[in-house]
Parts: sequence; structure tokens; C-alpha cells
Amino acid sequence: MDAEITIIGAGVIGLAIAETVSERYSDVFVIEKHTTFGQETSSRNSEVIHAGIYYPKGSLKAKLCVEGKMLLYEYCRKHEIPYSNCGKLIVATNEKEIAIIDGIKNTAAGNGVDLELLDRYQIEKLEPEIFALKALLSPTTGILDSHSLMKRFETDTLNNSGQIVYGSEVTGIRKLREGYEITLLDADSNNYSFTTRLVINSAGLTSDKISEMAGMKDENLSIRFCKGEYFRIVPPKNRLLNQLVYPVPHANLEGIGIHVTIDMGGGVKLGPDVTYLDSNVYDYRVDAGKQESFWKSARKFLPFLEFNDIAPEMAGIRPKIQKPGEPVRDFYIKEESERGNPGFINLIGMESPGLTSCLAIAKHVLSLIRN
Ligand SMILES: Cc1cc2nc3c(=O)[nH]c(=O)nc-3n(C[C@H](O)[C@H](O)[C@H](O)COP(=O)(O)OP(=O)(O)OC[C@H]3O[C@@H](n4cnc5c(N)ncnc54)[C@H](O)[C@@H]3O)c2cc1C
Repeated sequence: MDAEITIIGAGVIGLAIAETVSERYSDVFVIEKHTTFGQETSSRNSEVIHAGIYYPKGSLKAKLCVEGKMLLYEYCRKHEIPYSNCGKLIVATNEKEIAIIDGIKNTAAGNGVDLELLDRYQIEKLEPEIFALKALLSPTTGILDSHSLMKRFETDTLNNSGQIVYGSEVTGIRKLREGYEITLLDADSNNYSFTTRLVINSAGLTSDKISEMAGMKDENLSIRFCKGEYFRIVPPKNRLLNQLVYPVPHANLEGIGIHVTIDMGGGVKLGPDVTYLDSNVYDYRVDAGKQESFWKSARKFLPFLEFNDIAPEMAGIRPKIQKPGEPVRDFYIKEESERGNPGFINLIGMESPGLTSCLAIAKHVLSLIRN
């Protein structure tokens, strides 16, 4: 075999796995079609370290998020990755929403996440500029610099003698009597193949296609591109908030509502919204026509915000495996022996909280590797 383990995709999840498995195994390869890491979903997100509030008890999302946030805080401290444990408020602006936040507190408690119920006066002390009748404070929510995190994973993988091959796209996978043959297309349009004992598919938006290449076509795991657009709050009003502020989420959790996130550079974003794309195209445009709806949503709890205080910022695409309107699905992380592909580990539908969970996902994937 040319490689022991081949990881497809150098997003935050692929790189976290690469760092973790290269500590234990030699001949670890990461294959990435772009010329550097994190050019897709991993650099187009809110950079929030989620607490693990909303996910159903016992789901991989709940378990890996709660474990992942602790691992991530520890990792950021140890490796001097910029982060802030700034906290988050979930705000109720009317009686109906007050009734909903009790349910949120219970779901969070089921996942081992403690939230504190605040009244108007307590909220005012923390965030004097927002409007809320009641709020839940999530003290373990935070933010981080995801680029520095990925850079560190890349460096550690290389230091562990792992190899990262950029500018090469996986175009074919053939199962062998033992292991797999992977075909690549490089930046000069040359094809070449190599063999590997194990494959880890962390190809994000096209992870369903990678799984199909290995003969596991499955409509139930088809990815649907679901765009999230952001607007930024322009100076000086970006300085009026100290922590993340979220409205009460929509009933089916398709998105958690237009919220406010702060980044490590002091930028403040509104969003992301939720729009399923008609086809799986990499459409990162921000529709300036949405300014009014973003402004109106945010104004409910940010009364200081004027229409011209916000401007189009950026967009990301979620790799969803549920169709529009369907209940939220869990991460799909599986060693595929049952489907006739031993040593092939699929990660599909790695939407939020994928960034928060990356180190816990890497540990979980390591446990799925059979020697
Ligand atoms: C709008 C938005 C907001 C989000 N906010 C948060 C948040 O605040 N907190 C949080 O925890 N999570 C958040 N997420 C989720 C988080 O960003 C993702 O879970 C995470 O980035 C997924 O990482 P990944 O490595 O699986 O995928 P990606 O970053 O997409 O990486 C996959 C890589 O595979 C490569 N690839 C694909 N096909 C091939 C091929 N054939 N050959 C070679 N390479 C290939 C791609 O080029 C890409 O680099 C958000 C997501 C979105 C869209």
C-alpha cells in the first residue's frame, strides 16, 4: 500500500482528523482539491464555539458538540489560538417567546449544558443596548479564530510526518481485495492513482459524491446545498455589543434565526439566514435585497439599529442531508463495513456544530479505525 490512511478534504474536520490520526499512524495523507486548506465551509461560518443547547439528547451532534467545545477551549489555550469565552444570550422579546425559552433550558440541561435565566435588569447590566424581556445566558459559548486553528492542525499533521497534497481532486475510488485505489486529478490536469488501506471521507459539500465513487450511492445521504447569508453591522454600532445575541429559534431548527455574532477581529455579523439552493452550485453571492428583512429581524432585539447600519458581508453553504422542511438530521459518521466497504469511514452532513465538534469528531473517527 502507498498510504495507510487517506483523508479526503482539508477543511477543519479533515485537518482535525489528520492531526489526531497522524499521532498514532504513519503514512497519513490528506488530499485537498484547493491550493490551501479551509477554502469552503470551514472559512465561511460564524466561528462560534457552540455550547450544545439545541441538539436532541443522545445525538452525535449533542455529544460531540459538548465534548468538542471543552476540547477546543483546552486546545486553544494550549496552542495560543485566539479565542474568547464571551458567552451568549438567547433573548425573548414577547410572551410567546418567554414560554419557549423554558423548553430550550430543559433541552440544554438534558445535554449537560447549564443556562441561566435572566430578567430584564440582569440583561441590562450585561447588554444595556439590547431589548429583551427575559433571556437565557449560555456561559460556555464562545468564538475563535478558525483560520489559526486550521493552520495549527496543518502544522501538527506535518510535524507528525503526515502529508498534505493540495491542488489534487479525488475523481475515482476503486475497492481492492484489500484497501482502495484512489485516482486524482492534479492542477496540471494529470491523472494519477495510489493505493491506501483506509479512507476517511471528510469532503464536506461533496462527501456524498465521494461515497458514491466508492459504490455507496444512497439517496438518503444526498447533500443539499443550503446557503446562509450574513450582513455586518458597520462601525461605530458594531461596538455596542459584548457577546453573542440570538433570538428564540424557529420551530424545526432549520436555522437558529438571524442572530448576532462577534468575531475575534471585533467584526459583528447578523445571520446566517437559511436558503436551500435549487441545485448544488457554489453560489456565495449575498443578495443586497435582503437588507430590509435582516434589519427588521434584528431590530426586534437591537432597537438601536438603523437600516444603514448594516451592509452585505459574506455567505456560506451548509451540507444538509435533510430536505427543506424535514426534521433536522444528525451527523452521519460511519465505518462502512456493513455496506461492503471495510476501512472506509464516511462523514456526511457535517453542518453546524462541525467546527465546535472537530476535535471530538477526530477522536470518534480514531475509535472507528480497525487495525
Ligand atoms: C453559514 C454557516 C455557519 C456556520 N457556523 C458554525 C459555527 O458558528 N460553529 C460551528 O461549530 N459550526 C458552524 N458551521 C459548520 C461548520 O462550518 C462545518 O461543520 C465545518 O466547517 C465542516 O468542515 P469540513 O471539514 O467537514 O468541510 P469543509 O470545510 O467543506 O471541507 C471539505 C474539504 O473537502 C475538499 N474536497 C471536496 N471534494 C473533494 C475532492 N473530490 N477531492 C479533494 N478535496 C475535496 C473541499 O475542497 C474542502 O476543502 C457553519 C456552517 C455554515 C455554512
